Amino acid sequence: MLNRRNFLKTGLGTGVAAIPMAAVLGALDPASMLAAEQPSPQQSVGGASTPKLTPLPPRMAALNRATEPWQQSIRRVGQSNMTEHDPAVMNIEEWADYWHSAEADIVFISVTGILAFYPSRVPFHRHGKYLHGRDFFGECVAAARKRSMHVVARMSPDLNWGDALEAHPEWAMRNKDGSVQFCSQEPRLFKTCMFSTYMDDYVPAIMREVNSLYDVDCFYTNGWPPIGSLPECHCAICSNLPAAGTPAYWQAFNDRVFELWRKYDAIAKEKKPDSFFFANLGGNVRCGPNLDRLGKLAVWFQADNQGRTYNDPAVWGCTLQGRVCNAVLDGKFAANVTGAYSTGEVGWRNGSKTPEEAIMWLNETLASGMVPYYHFVGSEDGLGEDRRWQKVGSDYFRWTAKHDAHFTTRRSLANIGVIIGQSTQLLYPGPATARSRAYMHETTQGIYDALLKGRFAFDFVHEDRLEPERLTKYRALLLPNIAMLSDLQCKQIRDYVRSGGSIMASFETGLYDENLHRRPQSGLADLLGIQNAGDAIGTNGNAYYARIESPDSASPHPILEGFTHTNWLPGAQNRIPLKPVQNPILTVVPGFVSYPPELAYPPFPHTDQPAVVLAETASSRIAYFPGDIERTYWLTGHGDLLHLLHNTIRWITRDESIVHVEGEGFIETLSWETTPGYAIHLLNYTNPNAHHCWLQSIYPLGPQTVHMKLPQGVRVKSVEILKAGKTVPFQLDNQTLRFTIPRVEDYEVAAITVT
Ligand SMILES: [Zn+2]
Repeated sequence: MLNRRNFLKTGLGTGVAAIPMAAVLGALDPASMLAAEQPSPQQSVGGASTPKLTPLPPRMAALNRATEPWQQSIRRVGQSNMTEHDPAVMNIEEWADYWHSAEADIVFISVTGILAFYPSRVPFHRHGKYLHGRDFFGECVAAARKRSMHVVARMSPDLNWGDALEAHPEWAMRNKDGSVQFCSQEPRLFKTCMFSTYMDDYVPAIMREVNSLYDVDCFYTNGWPPIGSLPECHCAICSNLPAAGTPAYWQAFNDRVFELWRKYDAIAKEKKPDSFFFANLGGNVRCGPNLDRLGKLAVWFQADNQGRTYNDPAVWGCTLQGRVCNAVLDGKFAANVTGAYSTGEVGWRNGSKTPEEAIMWLNETLASGMVPYYHFVGSEDGLGEDRRWQKVGSDYFRWTAKHDAHFTTRRSLANIGVIIGQSTQLLYPGPATARSRAYMHETTQGIYDALLKGRFAFDFVHEDRLEPERLTKYRALLLPNIAMLSDLQCKQIRDYVRSGGSIMASFETGLYDENLHRRPQSGLADLLGIQNAGDAIGTNGNAYYARIESPDSASPHPILEGFTHTNWLPGAQNRIPLKPVQNPILTVVPGFVSYPPELAYPPFPHTDQPAVVLAETASSRIAYFPGDIERTYWLTGHGDLLHLLHNTIRWITRDESIVHVEGEGFIETLSWETTPGYAIHLLNYTNPNAHHCWLQSIYPLGPQTVHMKLPQGVRVKSVEILKAGKTVPFQLDNQTLRFTIPRVEDYEVAAITVT
């Protein structure tokens, strides 16, 4: 039973949502504590608390494996990234043995485009200086084939040398002054422009040459298209394109990406129809190419998201990528690269990273439904001077191979959809008060962190995928400052609410259309029940406060439960001024300085500007925060903002869970329907390095109890916890499944087999 001690522990942002809200909030004062200790309808006879559970949907029809494309059965991907020196020193047999013993299904082998690893005759495909006419690529392909591993022909179309530049000056990316853009680390290499004939002529020539000489399964380009940002080139072709960074440019960029993608895919298929082309992707919510179009075209989403970076320092960077893939692939293949080497701002490209960090990235890959891909940059014998990465990867791969069926996901179990706003991520410059390309990054991290700490089950939803059939599974949609929404997208969200869905939105959501044209009012103003009274504003000194209009109410609004002994709550750093609404529960306290303290008080105590606007119609609930609350939470970590977000999400979802995991600790949970049954993944982020740097050690967690309501007729055969390697007892009562995972080290997977 919940008691004060549990609340104090869990209330620190660790699993609050695991406990019925009324009980948690009641625990704040002794009188309510007594009430919370009385048996309630939410408690079973056994005394354990039972959450409000949304039943899982009926199980999907069985897959016909025979008709699935071959790449759908790939479960492990390996790559020793080859250097120019490798043909002189690499032991090909040893290289192939390593990946084979790790049970890799497919290996990447470098053809390249910067340096040929075979005796290429394509003009400007420079032979590596240690190649000496040897067919190094061909020997590697043969060694992989001998071990029944598939082969990806890996190319790099992003850079080339001075002789190519001299013959084809039009191939180069140019600066504004017309000068050539060179590789920042190796100035002998120039950057090739993706709009130039380099991509139309040179790349296809290499592909056709490879097809004519070798038996490869598919083609891949590294270094193109750009990930995480859009290119800026001023060559003759690009000068005639819309200005870089604009919606019109993004359209032209996407058209070119998909034109080339289709062309390369057709060339891959000239040799055999089940071959295909795929490319370097990633960038999570800031992926360069339009993710909706990509999801329709790509049969392999290659997430080049190899580890934490200075700009993406949180431990969940890989699951965030996985959720992006899941939003657009409809079950098609995605692999995420784990850099076994030391990724990051200060990197060691040929040195192993700490095993705890590499393994967590692999855990996240599996947990978020992607296929693990392990990668090291070789040299010397092809396996590296630092060989510590090898055992880490092969042990991990071999463990996954024992449980492939449970890691092959079919669909996610989530009842909240978070709109990711790819165009906002790429094109929105931030509000007028705080122009910053990092604005949406901070916003996304804020809502992500808050959702994890509340243990909510959520998916990402792409703004171009708002069809009703995709949204029906969600009790609520969240729109964290999704500034750019087309009229159609606004209509789809409106229809979703009309059909009974709930939403939570913030700040400049819907204030711009898909072309970044500003509307006078948010495109969702009618739905949100708001009217702007001006442009976004920020404070000078203090961030805003929000005044609780009825601070000592005996029955506070559910989003304010738990806030006692205060008239003010922290508000956002920036906000949209709104016209008054009826009966606001929070109002804006006017901004004031924090220094000098003599002047640190509001110029007047009370305004009628709402700090949150709530509405309820039929089964829909709507919450709008005019401030940038998610971002302000990310910048500060303020527990009141977290609590307010949690209360609000529980209010709009009516506190319904789809998979409910109760216990202590900071975890990320991802749950899936699988072919054998279901898989519940728990990632343990309770770690001093969760938000920065690498994991150095693991801090295990105690029991975690899982509740879920199975569809009618589904029976449970077993619940196995895969890391611990044992089965656990379970209860199935009126279709509610309940079991406890006794301990979580870094990661645990509860694999439920059903009949
Ligand atoms: Zn160009």
